Amino acid sequence: MYQTQVKPASDQVLREASRLLHAGELVAFPTETVYGLGANALNKDAVLSIFAAKGRPADNPLIVHIWDPAQLEDLCTIPDGASLLMERFWPGPLTILMPRKETIPLEVTAGLPTVAIRMPSHPVAASLLKACGLPIAAPSANRSGKPSPTSAHYVFQDMDGRIPLIIDGGPCDVGVESTVIDLTHGTPTILRPGGITREMLESVLGRVDVAGSVLRPLQKGEKALSPGMRYKHYSPDGQVTLVEGEESAVIRALSVLCHDAQEKGYRACVMCFTEHLTQLADCTPHDIGSIHDPSATAQCLFDTLRHLDDEKMDVIFSEVVPTTGVGLAVMNRLGRAAAFRTVSAEAVLSER
Ligand code: AMP
Ligand code: MG
Repeated sequence: MYQTQVKPASDQVLREASRLLHAGELVAFPTETVYGLGANALNKDAVLSIFAAKGRPADNPLIVHIWDPAQLEDLCTIPDGASLLMERFWPGPLTILMPRKETIPLEVTAGLPTVAIRMPSHPVAASLLKACGLPIAAPSANRSGKPSPTSAHYVFQDMDGRIPLIIDGGPCDVGVESTVIDLTHGTPTILRPGGITREMLESVLGRVDVAGSVLRPLQKGEKALSPGMRYKHYSPDGQVTLVEGEESAVIRALSVLCHDAQEKGYRACVMCFTEHLTQLADCTPHDIGSIHDPSATAQCLFDTLRHLDDEKMDVIFSEVVPTTGVGLAVMNRLGRAAAFRTVSAEAVLSER
Protein backbone atom coordinates (compact mmCIF):
# COMPACT_ATOMS: atom_id res chain seq x y z
CA MET A 1 0.00 0.00 0.00
CA TYR A 2 1.49 3.34 -1.06
CA GLN A 3 0.88 6.85 0.22
CA THR A 4 0.14 8.11 -3.30
CA GLN A 5 1.54 11.59 -3.97
CA VAL A 6 0.13 13.93 -6.64
CA LYS A 7 2.73 16.52 -7.64
CA PRO A 8 2.82 19.17 -10.36
CA ALA A 9 5.61 18.62 -12.89
CA SER A 10 8.96 20.26 -12.01
CA ASP A 11 12.62 19.32 -12.56
CA GLN A 12 12.74 17.93 -9.03
CA VAL A 13 9.60 15.81 -9.51
CA LEU A 14 10.94 14.48 -12.81
CA ARG A 15 14.15 13.44 -11.03
CA GLU A 16 12.10 11.71 -8.33
CA ALA A 17 9.98 9.98 -11.00
CA SER A 18 13.10 8.87 -12.81
CA ARG A 19 14.52 7.37 -9.59
CA LEU A 20 11.26 5.48 -9.00
CA LEU A 21 11.19 4.12 -12.57
CA HIS A 22 14.80 2.91 -12.30
CA ALA A 23 13.85 1.19 -9.02
CA GLY A 24 11.07 -0.75 -10.81
CA GLU A 25 8.21 1.37 -9.41
CA LEU A 26 5.21 2.81 -11.28
CA VAL A 27 4.67 6.50 -12.06
CA ALA A 28 1.54 8.04 -13.64
CA PHE A 29 2.23 10.93 -16.01
CA PRO A 30 0.33 13.16 -18.44
CA THR A 31 0.49 12.69 -22.21
CA GLU A 32 -1.36 14.60 -24.95
CA THR A 33 -3.90 11.73 -25.20
CA VAL A 34 -4.72 10.52 -21.65
CA TYR A 35 -2.68 9.92 -18.46
CA GLY A 36 -0.33 6.93 -18.68
CA LEU A 37 0.75 4.47 -15.98
CA GLY A 38 4.44 3.98 -16.66
CA ALA A 39 7.08 1.37 -15.82
CA ASN A 40 10.56 0.59 -17.13
CA ALA A 41 9.69 -1.38 -20.30
CA LEU A 42 12.87 -3.45 -19.97
CA ASN A 43 12.09 -4.68 -16.43
CA LYS A 44 9.56 -7.50 -16.56
CA ASP A 45 8.64 -7.35 -12.87
CA ALA A 46 7.95 -3.63 -13.15
CA VAL A 47 5.82 -4.33 -16.22
CA LEU A 48 3.87 -7.04 -14.38
CA SER A 49 3.08 -4.58 -11.60
CA ILE A 50 1.26 -2.39 -14.17
CA PHE A 51 -1.15 -5.28 -14.81
CA ALA A 52 -1.64 -5.74 -11.06
CA ALA A 53 -2.27 -2.03 -10.34
CA LYS A 54 -4.81 -1.75 -13.18
CA GLY A 55 -6.44 -5.16 -12.77
CA ARG A 56 -5.59 -5.56 -16.48
CA PRO A 57 -5.88 -8.98 -18.16
CA ALA A 58 -2.36 -10.32 -18.81
CA ASP A 59 -3.11 -10.90 -22.51
CA ASN A 60 -3.68 -7.19 -23.26
CA PRO A 61 -0.32 -5.76 -24.42
CA LEU A 62 1.14 -2.37 -23.46
CA ILE A 63 2.41 0.57 -25.51
CA VAL A 64 6.11 1.44 -25.20
CA HIS A 65 6.90 5.18 -25.12
CA ILE A 66 10.13 6.68 -26.43
CA TRP A 67 11.50 10.22 -26.82
CA ASP A 68 13.77 9.66 -29.82
CA PRO A 69 13.33 7.39 -32.87
CA ALA A 70 17.03 6.46 -32.48
CA GLN A 71 15.90 4.25 -29.55
CA LEU A 72 14.03 1.96 -31.98
CA GLU A 73 17.27 0.29 -33.08
CA ASP A 74 17.42 -1.63 -29.77
CA LEU A 75 13.69 -2.38 -29.48
CA CYS A 76 12.27 -3.48 -32.83
CA THR A 77 12.65 -3.68 -36.59
CA ILE A 78 10.97 -0.98 -38.66
CA PRO A 79 8.25 -2.09 -41.10
CA ASP A 80 7.61 -0.49 -44.53
CA GLY A 81 5.75 2.78 -44.27
CA ALA A 82 6.66 3.34 -40.61
CA SER A 83 9.40 5.89 -41.34
CA LEU A 84 7.00 8.05 -43.36
CA LEU A 85 4.48 7.98 -40.51
CA MET A 86 7.10 8.77 -37.87
CA GLU A 87 8.38 11.75 -39.88
CA ARG A 88 4.89 13.11 -40.36
CA PHE A 89 3.13 12.32 -37.03
CA TRP A 90 5.77 11.88 -34.30
CA PRO A 91 5.88 13.16 -31.70
CA GLY A 92 2.11 12.78 -31.41
CA PRO A 93 -0.88 10.50 -30.76
CA LEU A 94 0.09 7.68 -33.16
CA THR A 95 1.16 4.19 -32.02
CA ILE A 96 2.83 1.94 -34.59
CA LEU A 97 3.11 -1.87 -34.27
CA MET A 98 6.67 -3.04 -35.04
CA PRO A 99 8.25 -6.53 -34.98
CA ARG A 100 9.76 -6.85 -31.48
CA LYS A 101 13.41 -7.49 -30.66
CA GLU A 102 14.45 -9.69 -27.69
CA THR A 103 15.14 -6.67 -25.44
CA ILE A 104 11.38 -6.15 -25.07
CA PRO A 105 10.07 -8.63 -22.49
CA LEU A 106 7.15 -10.77 -23.67
CA GLU A 107 5.20 -9.43 -20.66
CA VAL A 108 5.01 -6.07 -22.52
CA THR A 109 3.61 -7.56 -25.74
CA ALA A 110 1.49 -10.24 -24.06
CA GLY A 111 3.48 -12.81 -25.99
CA LEU A 112 2.87 -11.18 -29.39
CA PRO A 113 5.69 -10.89 -31.96
CA THR A 114 4.99 -7.15 -32.40
CA VAL A 115 5.50 -4.28 -29.98
CA ALA A 116 3.37 -1.11 -30.01
CA ILE A 117 5.52 2.05 -29.94
CA ARG A 118 4.70 5.73 -29.56
CA MET A 119 6.62 8.98 -29.17
CA PRO A 120 4.38 11.35 -27.19
CA SER A 121 4.43 15.12 -27.77
CA HIS A 122 3.39 16.23 -24.27
CA PRO A 123 6.31 18.22 -22.82
CA VAL A 124 6.07 16.48 -19.41
CA ALA A 125 6.00 13.01 -20.99
CA ALA A 126 8.94 13.86 -23.26
CA SER A 127 10.95 15.35 -20.37
CA LEU A 128 10.25 12.33 -18.15
CA LEU A 129 11.32 9.89 -20.88
CA LYS A 130 14.53 11.84 -21.47
CA ALA A 131 15.24 12.31 -17.76
CA CYS A 132 15.04 8.59 -17.00
CA GLY A 133 16.63 7.45 -20.26
CA LEU A 134 14.42 4.34 -20.45
CA PRO A 135 11.70 3.17 -22.81
CA ILE A 136 8.53 3.35 -20.70
CA ALA A 137 5.68 0.85 -21.02
CA ALA A 138 2.48 2.70 -20.24
CA PRO A 139 -1.19 1.89 -20.70
CA SER A 140 -3.86 4.36 -19.65
CA ALA A 141 -3.72 5.07 -15.90
CA ASN A 142 -7.25 3.86 -15.09
CA ARG A 143 -8.48 0.68 -13.42
CA SER A 144 -9.22 -1.80 -16.20
CA GLY A 145 -12.68 -1.31 -17.72
CA LYS A 146 -13.07 2.30 -16.55
CA PRO A 147 -12.86 5.34 -18.84
CA SER A 148 -9.25 6.50 -19.29
CA PRO A 149 -8.27 9.42 -17.04
CA THR A 150 -7.74 12.82 -18.67
CA SER A 151 -6.83 14.59 -15.41
CA ALA A 152 -4.64 13.77 -12.39
CA HIS A 153 -7.79 13.85 -10.24
CA TYR A 154 -9.23 10.77 -11.98
CA VAL A 155 -5.87 8.96 -11.91
CA PHE A 156 -5.86 9.46 -8.14
CA GLN A 157 -9.45 8.16 -7.90
CA ASP A 158 -8.36 4.86 -9.51
CA MET A 159 -4.74 4.53 -8.32
CA ASP A 160 -4.78 5.89 -4.75
CA GLY A 161 -2.69 3.51 -2.60
CA ARG A 162 -1.56 1.47 -5.64
CA ILE A 163 1.35 3.61 -6.91
CA PRO A 164 3.81 6.03 -5.29
CA LEU A 165 3.56 9.04 -7.64
CA ILE A 166 1.20 10.84 -10.03
CA ILE A 167 2.68 13.76 -11.98
CA ASP A 168 -0.03 16.39 -12.51
CA GLY A 169 0.25 18.12 -15.89
CA GLY A 170 -3.31 19.47 -16.07
CA PRO A 171 -6.04 18.23 -18.44
CA CYS A 172 -5.08 16.24 -21.59
CA ASP A 173 -5.52 17.87 -25.02
CA VAL A 174 -6.69 15.04 -27.26
CA GLY A 175 -8.77 13.26 -24.60
CA VAL A 176 -8.88 9.80 -26.27
CA GLU A 177 -6.02 7.29 -26.50
CA SER A 178 -3.60 7.17 -29.43
CA THR A 179 -4.42 5.78 -32.85
CA VAL A 180 -2.96 2.24 -33.14
CA ILE A 181 -1.88 1.23 -36.67
CA ASP A 182 -0.65 -2.17 -37.87
CA LEU A 183 1.75 -2.07 -40.85
CA THR A 184 2.86 -5.68 -40.49
CA HIS A 185 -0.07 -7.48 -42.17
CA GLY A 186 -0.59 -6.22 -45.78
CA THR A 187 -2.83 -3.15 -46.10
CA PRO A 188 -2.14 -0.76 -43.19
CA THR A 189 -4.96 -1.21 -40.68
CA ILE A 190 -6.20 0.99 -37.85
CA LEU A 191 -6.75 -1.26 -34.83
CA ARG A 192 -7.82 1.62 -32.60
CA PRO A 193 -8.83 5.05 -33.94
CA GLY A 194 -7.52 8.17 -32.20
CA GLY A 195 -6.35 11.73 -32.73
CA ILE A 196 -4.38 10.88 -35.89
CA THR A 197 -7.31 10.15 -38.21
CA ARG A 198 -7.76 7.65 -41.02
CA GLU A 199 -7.86 10.58 -43.46
CA MET A 200 -4.49 11.89 -42.16
CA LEU A 201 -2.91 8.42 -42.41
CA GLU A 202 -4.29 7.92 -45.94
CA SER A 203 -2.73 11.21 -47.02
CA VAL A 204 0.65 9.58 -46.33
CA LEU A 205 0.09 5.86 -47.00
CA GLY A 206 -2.71 5.67 -49.57
CA ARG A 207 -5.38 3.12 -48.63
CA VAL A 208 -5.79 2.42 -44.90
CA ASP A 209 -8.34 -0.09 -43.55
CA VAL A 210 -10.16 0.08 -40.23
CA ALA A 211 -10.51 -3.12 -38.15
CA GLY A 212 -14.14 -4.27 -38.21
CA SER A 213 -14.41 -4.42 -34.43
CA VAL A 214 -13.82 -0.66 -34.12
CA LEU A 215 -17.53 0.09 -34.51
CA ARG A 216 -19.17 -3.15 -33.41
CA PRO A 217 -18.68 -5.90 -30.82
CA LEU A 218 -16.33 -8.76 -31.67
CA GLN A 219 -18.29 -11.59 -33.27
CA LYS A 220 -18.28 -15.10 -31.84
CA GLY A 221 -15.08 -16.83 -32.91
CA GLU A 222 -13.63 -13.61 -34.42
CA LYS A 223 -9.95 -13.08 -33.56
CA ALA A 224 -9.16 -9.71 -31.97
CA LEU A 225 -6.39 -8.01 -34.01
CA SER A 226 -5.86 -5.76 -31.00
CA PRO A 227 -6.39 -7.73 -27.78
CA GLY A 228 -7.79 -4.63 -26.02
CA MET A 229 -10.89 -4.84 -28.24
CA ARG A 230 -11.99 -8.02 -26.48
CA TYR A 231 -12.70 -6.36 -23.20
CA LYS A 232 -15.48 -4.30 -21.69
CA HIS A 233 -14.10 -0.82 -21.86
CA TYR A 234 -14.74 2.80 -21.07
CA SER A 235 -17.93 2.01 -19.22
CA PRO A 236 -19.44 4.20 -16.58
CA ASP A 237 -21.43 2.33 -13.91
CA GLY A 238 -24.74 3.48 -15.44
CA GLN A 239 -26.20 2.04 -18.65
CA VAL A 240 -25.49 4.16 -21.74
CA THR A 241 -27.78 4.12 -24.81
CA LEU A 242 -26.91 5.92 -28.07
CA VAL A 243 -29.70 7.69 -29.94
CA GLU A 244 -29.25 8.24 -33.69
CA GLY A 245 -31.35 9.88 -36.38
CA GLU A 246 -32.26 13.31 -37.73
CA GLU A 247 -31.19 16.16 -35.40
CA SER A 248 -34.60 17.41 -34.21
CA ALA A 249 -35.94 13.84 -33.82
CA VAL A 250 -32.90 12.95 -31.69
CA ILE A 251 -33.53 15.90 -29.37
CA ARG A 252 -37.19 14.88 -28.90
CA ALA A 253 -36.30 11.20 -28.42
CA LEU A 254 -33.62 12.03 -25.83
CA SER A 255 -36.21 13.99 -23.88
CA VAL A 256 -38.82 11.20 -24.09
CA LEU A 257 -36.36 8.46 -23.08
CA CYS A 258 -34.90 10.48 -20.21
CA HIS A 259 -38.30 11.44 -18.79
CA ASP A 260 -39.62 7.85 -19.09
CA ALA A 261 -36.59 6.58 -17.15
CA GLN A 262 -36.97 9.29 -14.50
CA GLU A 263 -40.65 8.37 -14.07
CA LYS A 264 -39.58 4.77 -13.44
CA GLY A 265 -37.41 6.06 -10.59
CA TYR A 266 -33.99 5.94 -12.27
CA ARG A 267 -31.37 8.66 -12.03
CA ALA A 268 -31.36 9.52 -15.75
CA CYS A 269 -29.62 12.15 -17.86
CA VAL A 270 -28.55 12.96 -21.41
CA MET A 271 -25.20 13.64 -23.08
CA CYS A 272 -25.79 16.23 -25.79
CA PHE A 273 -24.10 18.84 -27.97
CA THR A 274 -23.67 22.38 -26.65
CA GLU A 275 -26.20 23.60 -29.23
CA HIS A 276 -28.94 21.38 -27.69
CA LEU A 277 -28.37 22.16 -23.99
CA THR A 278 -31.22 24.66 -23.75
CA GLN A 279 -33.78 22.37 -25.41
CA LEU A 280 -32.78 19.54 -23.06
CA ALA A 281 -32.44 21.70 -19.94
CA ASP A 282 -34.84 19.51 -17.91
CA CYS A 283 -32.93 16.28 -18.74
CA THR A 284 -29.82 16.96 -16.60
CA PRO A 285 -27.82 17.58 -19.82
CA HIS A 286 -24.07 16.87 -19.94
CA ASP A 287 -22.29 18.97 -22.57
CA ILE A 288 -20.22 16.97 -25.10
CA GLY A 289 -19.00 20.00 -27.07
CA SER A 290 -20.17 21.60 -30.28
CA ILE A 291 -21.95 19.51 -32.93
CA HIS A 292 -19.45 21.01 -35.40
CA ASP A 293 -16.30 20.04 -33.48
CA PRO A 294 -15.67 16.29 -32.91
CA SER A 295 -12.25 17.13 -31.40
CA ALA A 296 -14.03 18.96 -28.58
CA THR A 297 -16.23 15.90 -28.04
CA ALA A 298 -13.14 13.65 -27.95
CA GLN A 299 -11.46 15.96 -25.43
CA CYS A 300 -14.34 15.94 -22.93
CA LEU A 301 -15.76 12.44 -23.51
CA PHE A 302 -13.97 10.43 -20.78
CA ASP A 303 -14.30 13.29 -18.33
CA THR A 304 -18.05 13.32 -18.96
CA LEU A 305 -18.30 9.52 -18.53
CA ARG A 306 -16.43 9.84 -15.22
CA HIS A 307 -18.76 12.65 -14.06
CA LEU A 308 -21.73 10.34 -14.65
CA ASP A 309 -20.27 7.94 -12.08
CA ASP A 310 -19.55 10.77 -9.64
CA GLU A 311 -23.24 11.70 -9.96
CA LYS A 312 -24.34 8.04 -9.64
CA MET A 313 -26.40 8.13 -12.85
CA ASP A 314 -28.28 4.87 -13.58
CA VAL A 315 -29.23 5.52 -17.21
CA ILE A 316 -27.68 7.82 -19.77
CA PHE A 317 -28.89 8.66 -23.29
CA SER A 318 -26.34 10.15 -25.67
CA GLU A 319 -26.17 11.83 -29.05
CA VAL A 320 -23.75 10.41 -31.64
CA VAL A 321 -21.25 12.01 -34.06
CA PRO A 322 -20.48 11.12 -37.72
CA THR A 323 -17.63 8.59 -38.02
CA THR A 324 -15.36 10.80 -40.14
CA GLY A 325 -12.12 12.40 -38.85
CA VAL A 326 -11.79 12.25 -35.06
CA GLY A 327 -15.48 11.22 -35.01
CA LEU A 328 -14.35 7.62 -35.64
CA ALA A 329 -12.39 7.61 -32.34
CA VAL A 330 -15.32 9.20 -30.50
CA MET A 331 -17.79 6.61 -31.80
CA ASN A 332 -15.40 3.73 -31.03
CA ARG A 333 -15.23 4.82 -27.35
CA LEU A 334 -18.89 5.84 -27.06
CA GLY A 335 -19.96 2.58 -28.75
CA ARG A 336 -18.00 0.54 -26.21
CA ALA A 337 -19.22 2.68 -23.30
CA ALA A 338 -22.74 1.81 -24.48
CA ALA A 339 -21.91 -1.86 -25.20
CA PHE A 340 -23.11 -0.81 -28.73
CA ARG A 341 -26.69 -0.32 -27.47
CA THR A 342 -28.18 2.02 -30.11
CA VAL A 343 -31.77 3.10 -30.79
CA SER A 344 -33.27 5.09 -33.65
CA ALA A 345 -34.88 8.40 -32.63
CA GLU A 346 -37.61 7.95 -35.23
CA ALA A 347 -38.48 4.49 -33.86
CA VAL A 348 -38.63 5.82 -30.28
CA LEU A 349 -41.00 8.62 -31.36
CA SER A 350 -43.26 6.40 -33.45
CA GLU A 351 -43.85 4.13 -30.46
CA ARG A 352 -45.38 7.05 -28.54
P1 AMP B 1 -3.69 1.26 -23.64
O1 AMP B 1 -2.29 0.97 -23.24
O2 AMP B 1 -4.70 1.22 -22.57
O3 AMP B 1 -3.71 2.53 -24.45
O4 AMP B 1 -4.00 0.08 -24.62
C1 AMP B 1 -3.07 -0.28 -25.61
C2 AMP B 1 -3.81 -0.75 -26.81
O5 AMP B 1 -2.89 -1.12 -27.82
C3 AMP B 1 -4.67 -1.95 -26.50
O6 AMP B 1 -5.91 -1.83 -27.21
C4 AMP B 1 -3.83 -3.08 -27.02
O7 AMP B 1 -4.60 -4.20 -27.36
C5 AMP B 1 -3.12 -2.46 -28.23
N1 AMP B 1 -1.84 -3.10 -28.50
C6 AMP B 1 -0.68 -2.97 -27.82
N2 AMP B 1 0.28 -3.75 -28.34
C7 AMP B 1 -0.28 -4.42 -29.36
C8 AMP B 1 0.20 -5.41 -30.29
N3 AMP B 1 1.44 -5.86 -30.24
N4 AMP B 1 -0.67 -5.88 -31.21
C9 AMP B 1 -1.95 -5.43 -31.26
N5 AMP B 1 -2.46 -4.50 -30.41
C10 AMP B 1 -1.64 -4.01 -29.48
MG1 MG C 1 -6.47 1.69 -21.68
